[in-house]
Amino acid sequence: MAGDILDCSAEAHRIEPHQVDAELERVRRAFAQVAAELEESARRISEQIDPSLGEIFRAHRLMLESLLSSNEFEKELRGSLTTAAEAVKTVFRKWEAKFAAIQDETLRERTDDIVDLARRVLRQLEGADAFGLAAMPAGSVLVTQRLLPSDVVALSPREVKAIVVESLGQGSHAALITREKGIPTLAGLPGLLSQIRSGDEALVDTFREALIISPSPDTRRAFDHRLEEYRASLLTCKGNCRKPAITRDGQKISVEANLAAHASIETVIENGADGVGLFRIEELYFARELPPSEEELFSELQHLVAPLREKPVTIRLLDAGGDKAISSLRLPFESNPLLGKRGVRLLLDYPQLARSQLKSLLRLSQVQDIRILVPMVTLERDMQQMRELLVAVAHEMDIENLPPLGAMIETPAAALTVGQIARHADFLSVGTNDLTQYTMVAGRDNATVSGYYEDTHPSMLRLLGIIIAEASGKPVTICGEMAGREDVIPTLLEIGFRALSISPPLIPTTKELIRSIDTRNP
Ligand code: PEP
Ligand code: MG
Repeated sequence: MAGDILDCSAEAHRIEPHQVDAELERVRRAFAQVAAELEESARRISEQIDPSLGEIFRAHRLMLESLLSSNEFEKELRGSLTTAAEAVKTVFRKWEAKFAAIQDETLRERTDDIVDLARRVLRQLEGADAFGLAAMPAGSVLVTQRLLPSDVVALSPREVKAIVVESLGQGSHAALITREKGIPTLAGLPGLLSQIRSGDEALVDTFREALIISPSPDTRRAFDHRLEEYRASLLTCKGNCRKPAITRDGQKISVEANLAAHASIETVIENGADGVGLFRIEELYFARELPPSEEELFSELQHLVAPLREKPVTIRLLDAGGDKAISSLRLPFESNPLLGKRGVRLLLDYPQLARSQLKSLLRLSQVQDIRILVPMVTLERDMQQMRELLVAVAHEMDIENLPPLGAMIETPAAALTVGQIARHADFLSVGTNDLTQYTMVAGRDNATVSGYYEDTHPSMLRLLGIIIAEASGKPVTICGEMAGREDVIPTLLEIGFRALSISPPLIPTTKELIRSIDTRNP
């Protein structure tokens, strides 16, 4: 079970008065290590992205130093006689509350900085995984109040059999990472944490959207029986998954995989993907304290995609900003980030950031069939400038054969002017998660407006029809979550989509479904 980091207090360990000085020394050492870490971050960010962003880490270091000089840790240690980690949690929790109460929104934003500093210091004191959710016993059900992408990245389906979360937007990144990992997730059970205890037995049935706590032996038997049936039908689909998906009227549909850095390529291959339609690389950024260098990116990507040598792999440039906050970039505060500098806007503003990715991808394109995808395109010139940058970088590297460059169509403006964008793109990929959010004006992470987040609303279907009709003959893939929904796939084929990119575990059943569809008579 999990709440939030600073609440995640293990039992407080008492210390003797004579141990206070030693614990205080541990706090000082942890602060010094974090200060050095921040200085190194500042140096690398300045070098790799922008000096103004590097300064933010220096500001954090100063903040850290002033926190240490406040003497509050010593007071807490002497007053409460708890360990260094407990004192750090208590003092940071107080500061967090102080910042959270500030009226000024920009200053209030510093609350996250405080929590981040607390994480760093505690990591030094208690080890890397002290607060991670990584160390779950095998067969666990994780019950949590909220789920962040960085929480899910560490989870393994071997240990975590299911997740139950009090509130989670269906289009949120955390939700889609759990789908990609094949961890069944049940959301929308407010107040659950107060009704369940660690160690309770729980069955999670995502088909019926049910959570059964402390089941009777009969209920358990019935559940196991249904699970067996499901596994058997999955096995049949898996037997056929490497064959192409051809509809009853002979239309070949490419069924590709959405992939992220944590995922296993073996799952993609095992499930018979016809390629990777969307490789999200954000994790390579948010899994580390510092953004990867060109060399690091190249070698990590090469390692990740090498087993897919035979299949085309579409790698998306970093889609940071908005709901995908990459803390290592320390981007300037925006009052409305979802309508702010995200995806391609950010890449064009920080050309160093774009160039290191383009360089790695160009190198990779010399050894593997890869395509480059540009996120969050709104204007024709977004694509035009990105193509110019790609051509310039390739020129510097003496590379003549450019990999295909594609545009993500995930804003209503891009959908309605797709023909103009297509002039600068070799292919298009429709991101319905963001397209739904911006068309329906309902946050993909915001469970309270999920009634508005309707990806099959007539306005969405019209936009999808426009994209297919006006794509100027460029290949179009659809890679948002709706592409993996069995109830929607017949409609998507009817609209004219011939390539779907979906979570790897869904590929075998999706191919089987496609084989039963007649697109002339869906
Ligand atoms: C989308 O927006 O539909 C998409 C595929 O991209 P992401 O979910 O990563 O924003
Ligand atoms: Mg998107």
